[in-house]
Amino acid sequence: MKIFSKLEEYDYEQIVFCQDKSSGLKAIIAIHDTTLGPALGGTRIYDYKTDEDAIEDALRLAKGMTYKNAALGLDLGGGKAVIIGDPKKIKNEALFRAFGRFVEGLNGRYITGEDMNMTQQDAAYISCETNYIVGLETGSGNPSPITAYGILKGIQAALNEVYGSDDLKGRTVAIQGLGAVGRCLAELLYEAGAILYVTSRDQAKIDKAVAELEATPVTLNEIYGIECDVFSPCAIGAIINDTTIEKLKCKIVAGSANNQLAECRHGDMIEKRGILYVPDYVVNSGGVINIIDDISGREYNKENAMKNTAKIYDACKKVFDIAKRDGIPTYKAADRLAEERIAAVSKIKTIYNKK
Ligand code: NAD
Repeated sequence: MKIFSKLEEYDYEQIVFCQDKSSGLKAIIAIHDTTLGPALGGTRIYDYKTDEDAIEDALRLAKGMTYKNAALGLDLGGGKAVIIGDPKKIKNEALFRAFGRFVEGLNGRYITGEDMNMTQQDAAYISCETNYIVGLETGSGNPSPITAYGILKGIQAALNEVYGSDDLKGRTVAIQGLGAVGRCLAELLYEAGAILYVTSRDQAKIDKAVAELEATPVTLNEIYGIECDVFSPCAIGAIINDTTIEKLKCKIVAGSANNQLAECRHGDMIEKRGILYVPDYVVNSGGVINIIDDISGREYNKENAMKNTAKIYDACKKVFDIAKRDGIPTYKAADRLAEERIAAVSKIKTIYNKK
């Protein structure tokens, strides 16, 4: 892999390789852009097949965070970290503390938090070595329920766009992944009267959703072809790709997974198929909104976090409006919103200020 060409492609600022033999830590911290503020983005633990896959994922996720934070109107840049290895095998206190020391070494250029396969206990170990971590139990806590609430709002905005009504009663939703976000989302949708199809890698979670939420279980491959109103990817990225796009029989794609489009052209393809794609980083931003109090040092207020997260409905509507106004697919409309803000703020930073 030509690392610097890779960084130049989307103007990444920095990539940090972290290694500690005694604890087994192998991690990558990617910082995409800090024009608006420190790079914020969680840490994912994943058993990547190759180091290149891990670098690729860290870079893609970091860029996604830049766009998400910018589109939301936050004073934060974009970064992300990945810890390489099987989350069932590699976890130990020393590993997370070693990682925390690397985060501390960046002196606030990067702020981390929880992401895929990380628990509150893991985050607590990291916080022993650095204050540059948010979403701890002592602060805003687990972001997943708020993220799920934001997805619900985004789904309602999309339903309104497609059907002229936010009502979820009788709407069919196919959920891919029943982890922290997927399960909470399934509960919210069920309470609102939606009919659920579910798949996940964990059979126990599927069984629970079948028993408690009257969900219909489907296989990992079947989920793409379910005839439904909404396909909700809540597991891994790059699931809208050349293979899956033809299978989709939904009207809307809206879910929590980051970087759902394998490549930008898949955003064009999905639009041509007449499917409304709700850009991932706009609809899944509840988790970030939830930790704003932690970053600014205020005491966490759940009511405010919920109120602010509900604004994802309006943000999605804004993206749909830009898409219609400029005749572009929704993924481009969201990018346009973010890029225009970064450019505008970067311009005012040319004015000298002692700070
Ligand atoms: P999680 O690890 O708790 O859950 C992921 C679930 O997906 C697991 O149940 C796993 O079995 C399942 N899964 C993995 N691969 C799958 C596949 N190929 N098909 C079907 N299921 C599969 O993660 P999470 O916190 O729920 O996050 C889910 C996604 O949402 C991730 O992409 C994450 O980056 C993104 N996200 C999460 C938050 C948050 O607040 N947790 C916020 C924003 C974005």
